Amino acid sequence: MDQTEKWFSELLHDNGLSITARQLEQFDRYYRLLIEWNEKMNLTGITEREAVYEKHFYDSLTLSFFLDMNKMNNLADIGSGAGFPSIPLKICFPHLKVTIVDSLKKRIHFLQHVVEQLELQDFTCIHGRAEDVARMPGQRDAYDLATARAVARLSALNELCLPFVRSGGLFAAMKGANSDAELQEAGKSLVLLKGQWRETHQLKLPFEQADRNIIIFEKKGTTPGQYPRKAGTPLKQPLV
Ligand code: SAM
Repeated sequence: MDQTEKWFSELLHDNGLSITARQLEQFDRYYRLLIEWNEKMNLTGITEREAVYEKHFYDSLTLSFFLDMNKMNNLADIGSGAGFPSIPLKICFPHLKVTIVDSLKKRIHFLQHVVEQLELQDFTCIHGRAEDVARMPGQRDAYDLATARAVARLSALNELCLPFVRSGGLFAAMKGANSDAELQEAGKSLVLLKGQWRETHQLKLPFEQADRNIIIFEKKGTTPGQYPRKAGTPLKQPLV
C-alpha cells in the first residue's frame, strides 16, 4: 500500500467505510485508466495521483458518510462525466445497481471500458440527454437514489434528476461552496417536480480544505407528465 492509499483507507475508515485490498486495486486501475484516456480526450483537469484520490475518489464517497448506501438498491448518476460520483460508490458498495447517463458519447465509451476492466456487475451506461432518457421505459420514477456532481445549477438540475427518482426516493446534489443561493432559487422547480428539501451536509476536503455541500431532496410523488421538458430547455429556461 503506498502513502496515498494509506491516507485514503484511513480517512474512509474514520468515516465508517472499510475498504478491502481488492477495492484499493480497483481504484488504482481506475486512476490509471483515467490518466491513460485523458491523453486522448478531456476527462479531467486533475491528474496528479494524490489530487485524484482526494478531489474525485474521496469527494465522491463523502455521500456515503451521510446516506446509508446499504439501504439503496439502485442509483442513477446524471452527467457522470468520467464516472463521479457513481464509480467510486459502486467500487465501495458493489450491491448497487448503477445507471450512468451522460450526453457525451466519448465519455460513455470510456465508462464502458472502465466497467469492463474493473469487472463491475449490474452497471449500465446510457448515452443521451437526461431529459430524453427520463422518458425511456424503466427509467422514470424508478431509482432509490439519483446523484449529480458539477452538472448544472439546482433550478435546472432538479429537472434533469428528480424525474429518475421513485416516490419516496432521494436526489443528492453534490455542490461546492455557496450553494445557499442556488437552493433559494430552486424552490419553484422543487414544487413542480415533487421534490422536498430534506437536509444539507457541509464538509471540507481533507487536504485542500475546499468547502462542499451535499444537498438531499426527497421525492414526494410521481413526476408530472410534462417533465422533463424538451432537451436543452431546463438549462435555457430553468423553472425559477
Ligand atoms: N459528474 C462529473 C464530475 O463530477 O466530475 C462530471 C461533471 S461534468 C462538468 C458535466 C457532465 O454532465 C458532462 O460529462 C456532460 O456531458 C454531462 N451533461 C450535461 N448536461 C447533460 C444532460 N442534459 N444530460 C446528460 N448529461 C449531461
